[in-house]
Amino acid sequence: MELPYAEPYRIKVVEPLEKSTRARREQWIKQARYNLFNLRSEQVFIDLLTDSGTGAMSHHQWSEIMLGDESYAGSSSYYKLKEVIGQLLGMPYFVPTHQGRAAENVLFSAIISEGDVVPGNAHFDTTKGHIEFRKAQAIDCTIDEASDTTLHHPFKGNIDLKKLERVFKSCPPGKIPLCIITVTCNTSGGQPVSMQNIRQVSALCRQYGIPVFFDAARFAENAYFIKLREDEYADRSIRDIVLEMFSYVDGATMSSKKDAIVNIGGFLACRNKELFDKISMYCILYEGYLTYGGLAGRDLGAMARGLMEGTEFSYLESRIGQVAYLGRQLKKYGIPCQEPTGGHAVFVDAKMCLAHLPKEEFQAQTLAIELYLEGGVRGVEIGALLADRDPQTRQNRYPRLELLRLAIPRRVYTNNHMDYVAACLANIYERRNSISRGYRIVKEAPIMRHFTIELEPVQESSPGSNQT
Ligand SMILES: *Cc1c(COP(=O)(O)O)cnc(C)c1O
Repeated sequence: MELPYAEPYRIKVVEPLEKSTRARREQWIKQARYNLFNLRSEQVFIDLLTDSGTGAMSHHQWSEIMLGDESYAGSSSYYKLKEVIGQLLGMPYFVPTHQGRAAENVLFSAIISEGDVVPGNAHFDTTKGHIEFRKAQAIDCTIDEASDTTLHHPFKGNIDLKKLERVFKSCPPGKIPLCIITVTCNTSGGQPVSMQNIRQVSALCRQYGIPVFFDAARFAENAYFIKLREDEYADRSIRDIVLEMFSYVDGATMSSKKDAIVNIGGFLACRNKELFDKISMYCILYEGYLTYGGLAGRDLGAMARGLMEGTEFSYLESRIGQVAYLGRQLKKYGIPCQEPTGGHAVFVDAKMCLAHLPKEEFQAQTLAIELYLEGGVRGVEIGALLADRDPQTRQNRYPRLELLRLAIPRRVYTNNHMDYVAACLANIYERRNSISRGYRIVKEAPIMRHFTIELEPVQESSPGSNQT
C-alpha cells in the first residue's frame, strides 16, 4: 500500500498544555471582557491566534543561539545572515531589524513622503499603518476573485494589472515611491502570488520607473504554492523559485517571525547601494548599528539557519500540508471556509456559519468566543472589530467578510490537535442556530481597537441596543 505521510522531524522538547473545564473558561473569558487578546496563555489549550513568532526552532537553530557573537560591530552571526540573504535571495545589501514593521519604518522613512501613493496587493495592517502614518495612501489592487471565499483560484494574492496601471496613470510622476507585493497575501487569507504575476507587475513597474518591493514575510510558502500550482515550476527547487521571485524586485521587508521560523527578528534587503546608504542612516537611528539592527547576535544566527530550513521542500510540505489538513477536516463537517486554504491559516466564514446573527453583533468575534468556550482554542476575529470605525464618520465599518482566522504555528502542534480544533468547530456548527445573541462594544480605543476592546453579550431583553 501507499505509505501515509509523516512529518520530517521528531520532537525533542515538549511543553505541557493544561486542559480546562468549560466553567473555568466561561469565567476567564468574562474576566477578559470577551476579548481573546486579554486571555493569559495558560488559559488557552490550543493557541491559533497567530503564526508570528510562535514557531518551534530546530536544534540547529538553538545551537546558533549558543554560537551567537555579541560583538557590537562586525559580529560573525551577522556575516552568517548576510551570506544566506545574498545566496538565497540574491540581495547584496541588508540591515537586520527587530521585526517586520521595523523594516517598514526604516524603509518608509527613507522613501515615503506626505501625499505619496503606495499601490500593491492587499497591504498588511502594519504596512498600511506605516504608510498612512506618513499621510500617504495605500491602494489595494488585488484581483476581484480574492474577495469571494467560495471561488477556487490558485493565486488569489495576484495584483490586477489594470488596477495597478490605473494608479500609475492617475498619479503625478514622483508620487509613487514604491509598489509592494505581499507574498503570500496575508490580508486575502494567506493566498499566493504567481510567478507570472510577479514578473508582470515588475515589468509594469519598470516601465513606469517605480521600484517594486516584496513584503516577504511568507515568501517561502509563496514559493511552495508556485511549485505546486504553476506548471513550469513543478520540477524547480524551492530555492530556485525563491531566487527567481526575488530577481524581479528591488528589495524586500521581512518579518522573520514567519518563514524564518524565529521568535523575533526581521530585515530589510535591497539591491541599490544608494538606497542602502539612505536606509543605513534610519537603521542606526531607529534600530541599532548596521550589523545587529535591534537584535542580539544569537538572533541573527538563528534567523540565518531558519531561512535555510524554511526553504526546504520537506518542511514546507509538512507545514502547508498541516494547514490544508485542518481545512479538509472542517470541510468534512460542512463548515464553510475560504477556498482554497491559505499557506498559514484556515479562515472560517463566520458570516455563513452564523447567518442568523446581525452583523452589528459581530459574527466572527461571536464564533471566536464560542470556539474558546467549546474547547479552549484561541483563534482571531478578522471582521468588523478589526475593520474599526471610519475615521471621518466614526461609524462602524462592516467588511464584506466576517472571518475567524485559525493561524497555525510552525512545527508546534500535531494533527491530533487539528482534529480537536475541527471537532470543536463541528460541535458549534451543529448547534449554531441555538447561538441567538452576539456581543456589543462596551469600551474601545480610538484606533487599532481590536487589541484592547471590551465587549459584553447582547441580552435578549435589549434588542437594538447596539450602537453603530
Ligand atoms: C507579520 C507581518 C508583518 C509585520 O511584521 P512584524 O514582525 O509583526 O512586525 C508585515 N507584513 C506581513 C505580511 C506580515 O505577515
